[in-house]
Amino acid sequence: MAKIIDGKAIAAKIRGEIATEVTRLATTGITPGLAVVLVGEDPASKVYVSMKEKACQEVGIFSDEYKLHAETGETELLALIERLNNDPKIHGILVQLPLPKHINEAKVLETISPSKDVDGFHPYNVGRLVIGKPLFQPCTPYGVMVMLKEFGIDLAGKEVVVVGRSNIVGKPVALMCLQQHATVTLCHSRTRDLSAKVRMADVLIAAVGQPEMIKGEWIKEGAVVIDVGVNRVGDKKLVGDVEFAAASLHASAITPVPGGVGPMTITMLLHNTLESAKRQAQG
Ligand code: NDP
Repeated sequence: MAKIIDGKAIAAKIRGEIATEVTRLATTGITPGLAVVLVGEDPASKVYVSMKEKACQEVGIFSDEYKLHAETGETELLALIERLNNDPKIHGILVQLPLPKHINEAKVLETISPSKDVDGFHPYNVGRLVIGKPLFQPCTPYGVMVMLKEFGIDLAGKEVVVVGRSNIVGKPVALMCLQQHATVTLCHSRTRDLSAKVRMADVLIAAVGQPEMIKGEWIKEGAVVIDVGVNRVGDKKLVGDVEFAAASLHASAITPVPGGVGPMTITMLLHNTLESAKRQAQG
């Protein structure tokens, strides 16, 4: 049976380290600050924003929330971001996505100063990741990499198969694995014979958003399975993109859903905010 890669435990350990570092930084008169901008009333976005604020409080990071009504104009939002770019108390700016349709998301993300872009979505930070000199790395894929490291998995020379090519998970995690010297196959909805690709994987990273679409029998004996997918089935139950029970019979290690990658995402946001504060303190 596969070992469980316990994201909750890894996240708790890292959050403890962040809290210690925030306390140390406070002795130099610096408190890391995160601005969280929410436009509109999307219920899922509201939950994510309150989780992020609570996590900040727990480690001693100052967080400032800007709740704007759904009709807020693009100009007004861009002016707020410019103000936050110039606010010395703020080291990280996060605009909760998705934004209402009348606002140009790309323009908003490009207005955030790359030096405060703790989500790592600004094209400057994407480019830094591509050339292997990252400044801010996007939180979910970064969390995946930290989990693999904490679990002692060396990617050098391994076959890594990523399923899903979104800008926020699939593409960046593929680049990060490449940087760690893996041989990377990046699959998507047009990939032919997905099962054959998955069967090659020493490490499988699934980020699709379809409940249990990756079958347990596709998993190579001894493979490591990282399931980023979070899918609600029925009223309450959450499942990943991988058939967990069947995959556990073949994998050597696997992340559960929930309690796997999920807790790592906000942890890496805290990490990025702290790093930003330290960088800005150094000038
Ligand atoms: P997107 O919808 O942006 O991307 C999904 C990707 O999966 C696309 O590249 C798509 O291909 C591919 N895909 C869809 N169907 C298939 C298929 N049948 N075979 C192969 N590939 C397929 O999703 P995200 O990347 O934003 O999220 C993926 C999952 O991860 C979701 O469940 C989401 O909830 C979860 N998630 C979890 C986070 C966490 O903190 N734990 C954070 C972010 C996401 P194509 O490009 O060709 O359309």
